[in-house]
Amino acid sequence: MPNAWKLLIIDDCATDRKIYRRFLLKDPHHYYQILEADSAEVGLGLCQNMPCDLILLDFCLPDMSGIEFLDQLRQKTFGSSVPVIMLTGRGDEEIAVEAMKKGVQDYLVKQHLKADVLQLAVRNVIKQLCLQTQLQKTQERQRLIATMLLRIRQSLDLEEILYTAVREVQQMLKCDRVIVCQSSPEADSDQTGQNYTTDQNNPLLCYWAGSDDCNFNPLELLDNKANLMVPITLSDQQTVSKPWGFLIAHQCTGKREWQSDELEVLCEVSVQLAIAIQQAELLTKTQAALEKEKQLNAFKSQIITTISHEYRTPLASILAAASTLKQYGDHLEELKKHKFLHIIEQKARHMSKLIDDMLVMNQFELNKTKFKTIPLDLEQFFSSLISEQQQLVSDRHEFIFQSTGNNKGFWGDQGLLRLIFSNLMSNAIKYSPKGGNVEFHLIGKESEVIFFIQDQGIGIPIADQTNLFQPFCRGSNVDTLPGTGLGLAITKACVELHGGSITLDSQPDQGTKVTVCLPKQHIQKSSH
Ligand code: ATP
Ligand code: MG
Repeated sequence: MPNAWKLLIIDDCATDRKIYRRFLLKDPHHYYQILEADSAEVGLGLCQNMPCDLILLDFCLPDMSGIEFLDQLRQKTFGSSVPVIMLTGRGDEEIAVEAMKKGVQDYLVKQHLKADVLQLAVRNVIKQLCLQTQLQKTQERQRLIATMLLRIRQSLDLEEILYTAVREVQQMLKCDRVIVCQSSPEADSDQTGQNYTTDQNNPLLCYWAGSDDCNFNPLELLDNKANLMVPITLSDQQTVSKPWGFLIAHQCTGKREWQSDELEVLCEVSVQLAIAIQQAELLTKTQAALEKEKQLNAFKSQIITTISHEYRTPLASILAAASTLKQYGDHLEELKKHKFLHIIEQKARHMSKLIDDMLVMNQFELNKTKFKTIPLDLEQFFSSLISEQQQLVSDRHEFIFQSTGNNKGFWGDQGLLRLIFSNLMSNAIKYSPKGGNVEFHLIGKESEVIFFIQDQGIGIPIADQTNLFQPFCRGSNVDTLPGTGLGLAITKACVELHGGSITLDSQPDQGTKVTVCLPKQHIQKSSH
């Protein structure tokens, strides 16, 4: 049986009430539940206790006029607007017009009232009533959505935005749970969500609000057609759409027939969420770029300070040696001349290395370092590197090279590997001014190789060790040993490009051991 409309007939004439009842119950389009009152007083009482959908009101009642009844009805039902159809006698049309001004929906002349006329009038008023209710509902929903969206958009923090969204939508839809899930970037996401994946061990963004008892498994949710789900799609200025994830309303306690306006709410929230997500992502990117810019600026001013500081001394030596040669060159012995030329050459080399290091570091800071791996025979690579270094050191140092394990199958960037190990070797020698052994071990494992360089030099104070991989940081015990503090920063950046790690183990006056672990093959995520 369809839902019945509740109708109240107020008329003091029992015969008329009977006629109207008969007419209305014959209506093939609607089903009515009919209440009757033979006076205004009884009618008002019924309206208060059993709210009805429509009133058929006889204008001439024994205890009060129709107009008085309308006033009392509004008062007693606190202004509720139950629609009223007024029934008047012939010639009472003027009064009926007055009643319509008071809010009555329609009026009918009682004499010779036909069934179809009454049915049509009642049906029209009911139709109006439905439209009005629908309009009110839509307006109320729009108001709630606007308030909710305002709350969502009040933040630029993605986590807060998503939490607010699920909480607000869950409260609005009154369902068990509302979930926002970010789909896996690897998933070839189509709009149906069928390729949607989540990894519980490595959770993607997944926020929900609602019952904790509800069995929550996003994958199962997507299979369940009883859930309401809409995609969240980001679009950039070139209007390229990028699937981001899903907004899901979930009901696990019993089946739920989702209404079209509930789907509309979800769609609207998903559009707004997409905008908010994009804004939050943009903010994060801008902040990261600003931070990077700050670091670059700090780095550049550090470079200027270092160059002006580090260049002054060698430049003064070069100038002094050059002017001595120019002024007294003809009178100097060959040996002395050679000594001055050596000073010039050495200082110029030092200055050139400084510039090279700064340029390398700058490339790293700008993420522009070229990284190209090739298969390498590590033993051959290190033997030639060590013999190169050996020529540069005095007899007080001895290099001991040892290689164990399986070193086959290693891929690396030759230039960057050179930077790593020449820096570490030069440190081991430079910071062992009294000489000693420099041990160099290469240990091949199944999927990685481990190198360590151990010296017997001045070591590093514990307090200085944490910052040494930052550009321009030096130990407090270097005294007059030359250096700019760039070597380890460059080394670490090169190691990281290979997907490896570097650690340092040292005690003052006990020597230093630097360990580098590199995967045999490293696939770079983003190209530099
Ligand atoms: P350069 O840029 O010319 O290499 P540097 O040697 O001072 O200058 P890094 O190689 O970055 O710079 O080393 C940073 C600091 O770490 C050094 O100044 C030194 O204090 C400390 N250090 C590095 N290696 C050793 C080592 N083997 N023994 C003792 N101290 C070391
Ligand atoms: Mg160094």
